[in-house]
Amino acid sequence: MNRDPQNLSCTEFQSLLPELIGSGQNVSQHPHVRSCDLCRTLLSDLETIAEAARQLLASVEPPDNLWRQIESAIQKEENESTVQ
Ligand SMILES: [Zn+2]
Repeated sequence: MNRDPQNLSCTEFQSLLPELIGSGQNVSQHPHVRSCDLCRTLLSDLETIAEAARQLLASVEPPDNLWRQIESAIQKEENESTVQ
């Protein structure tokens, strides 16, 4: 579907958003964003959330130990339920 990006509706643009971000495009330069206050606000909200998430993740310990604990807890449970 080759539609003029300037004529996208907000719904259409927002459904394209994950694809645009996923393909590494500079979404803030997208013609729809440049002409649409609503989506510009949405995008800056998303960027704020993404930035907060990055900072949150950066401050969290690597989850290796956690996964190991969960794994051994699951195995323990499996053993206990099969032993009977
Ligand atoms: Zn829009």
